[in-house]
Amino acid sequence: MFQRSLMLLGLFALGAGLAAAQISAPEPDPLARMRQAAAANTQVCSESELSACAQAAPKIIANALGASPLAENLRRLTEEIGGRLTGSPAMDRAVEWAMAAFRDAGVDDVHTEKFTVPHTWSEGATRLEILSPSSFVVHAISVAWSQATPPNGLEAEVIDGGAGTSEDFARLGSARGAILLIHTEVLRTFNDLFTEKLRNPDIVNRAASAGASAILWMGTREGLLLDHQTTALGQDGSIEKLPQAIVAREDAERLARELTAGTRIRARLKLPNRVGGPVEAQNVVAEIRGREEPNQFVLLGTNLDSFQLGTGALDNGCNAALVVEAARDIHLTGLRPKRSIRFVLFSGEEEGMLGSWAYVGAHRDELDGEDAAIIFEKGSGRVTGFSLGGRHDLQAELLRQTLAPLDSWGVNRFTDDAILGTDDLDFLLEGVPNLVANQDEDNYLSNHHASSDTYDKVNIPNLKRNTAVAGVLTFSLAEFATPLGPRLSRAQIDSLLQQTGLESQLKTLGVRRYWERDQRGR
Ligand SMILES: [Zn+2]
Repeated sequence: MFQRSLMLLGLFALGAGLAAAQISAPEPDPLARMRQAAAANTQVCSESELSACAQAAPKIIANALGASPLAENLRRLTEEIGGRLTGSPAMDRAVEWAMAAFRDAGVDDVHTEKFTVPHTWSEGATRLEILSPSSFVVHAISVAWSQATPPNGLEAEVIDGGAGTSEDFARLGSARGAILLIHTEVLRTFNDLFTEKLRNPDIVNRAASAGASAILWMGTREGLLLDHQTTALGQDGSIEKLPQAIVAREDAERLARELTAGTRIRARLKLPNRVGGPVEAQNVVAEIRGREEPNQFVLLGTNLDSFQLGTGALDNGCNAALVVEAARDIHLTGLRPKRSIRFVLFSGEEEGMLGSWAYVGAHRDELDGEDAAIIFEKGSGRVTGFSLGGRHDLQAELLRQTLAPLDSWGVNRFTDDAILGTDDLDFLLEGVPNLVANQDEDNYLSNHHASSDTYDKVNIPNLKRNTAVAGVLTFSLAEFATPLGPRLSRAQIDSLLQQTGLESQLKTLGVRRYWERDQRGR
């Protein structure tokens, strides 16, 4: 539909006077064939026969696994639009993509909801030059949302800050004016990723206190692969405290070996990052209205934005395409659940879940009527179950029944952990039941935020199965006679934060102050 709209616009622009000019015949819509095939999966049936859930599940599964525009939609988002930083022109195009894709999926309504992000950011021509003793090519990129250096760069001695622990800094004493090299571990598991995320803010604070002029982080991938990360944002879209770059692991280890041998290294770091803003960003919100309680709803969501390297395919284009496809698969059943379903593609996730934070703020009056937020966010690895965000009170048995038609896929393991890291956080802080899909790691981490995160990495058959899981779960929760669990009070959320350890994560990542000041959460 996106392409078709552009084509129509193009034809109108030509005007009647040019009708006789050489206009080549319009290309057939590349999605038409798939759309027809998918529509053939539709089996509308009477709602009075069985419960809507029992009717809907097999149809949703058939629609998801059959011919569908899922892969083509993902190809357009990743190959034609590519990396889409919040606040960038590419992100505006991604929002247009989402609007068109949701309309094509047959939802009752789709619109955008604007919110303000404090900064836009894009990377300039990052360069790390070794001035002495001997120059060699160093592969480096800027940390995302890093400060820029002065235009001519920043020239200083490189010193080894070890792993950046308080002992390492005590050993160093002053690092005044120096460029600090920080060692890291190779990233292999989701746990490694969270450990790194929680470790970095303290290191940045220590480096700033010690007077360092910049930080060089050893890359966490091997094979010279570089990846964009933020390191110490207050999860509020602010700019990082110090100029910071990530140096390819092999190059950083070479520098570290020289420093260990006692060589003095001088370097010039140029980070001509472009920092702007504040600017408007947009969430895309679509809805299938419920037949009995249209003001109550279940939300299926994920983030649409990505970092600049690669094309944001595993993180997180594939799940944006999944949410659109789940809407289409549910629409094609011809059945409406009791309550409404909202499908939301958030912006600003990479900078601290800014879009979902804005969403709960804009919909605070409705949150008593929100039964659950379901978030998919970990690439195209097989779904193994759902994290319940520390909520022991949710009806896990009900969830197991819901997913019973998919039992043979092993999607039925529910965990009671709660980890700060994606768009469920602000629903959790509002006391709304929230479920995050647990997924096999597959190739997610090896390509995370890197130039290698491209369309070819997405496992389309897995993504189709995950879409079926999302569709069945979302429809069923919107259909159940009773909600999955209550909305928690502030006191209950407070105790959940303590019990799950989220409280200390919020503190480390600079979010707790917003919770304490009533600026984030219930
Ligand atoms: Zn990410």
